[in-house]
Amino acid sequence: MPIYEYKCEDCNNCFEKLVFSPGSESIKCPKCRSKQVTRLMSYTNICSQSGSGKCSSRVPGGFS
Ligand SMILES: [Zn+2]
Repeated sequence: MPIYEYKCEDCNNCFEKLVFSPGSESIKCPKCRSKQVTRLMSYTNICSQSGSGKCSSRVPGGFS
């Protein structure tokens, strides 16, 4: 069964949703019931990495 992960734009809540028909985009945030949700393309990637140190592969301002 297709399980997609969504992120609410209003409260930044991440939640998973079973989607039987991808065409129907009537997904609402279960927390604040907002419809401003974005489907995360990379599965269980963004939510699980929040809080950890990232962007370590490139150091900005390396020109001396
Ligand atoms: Zn929300």
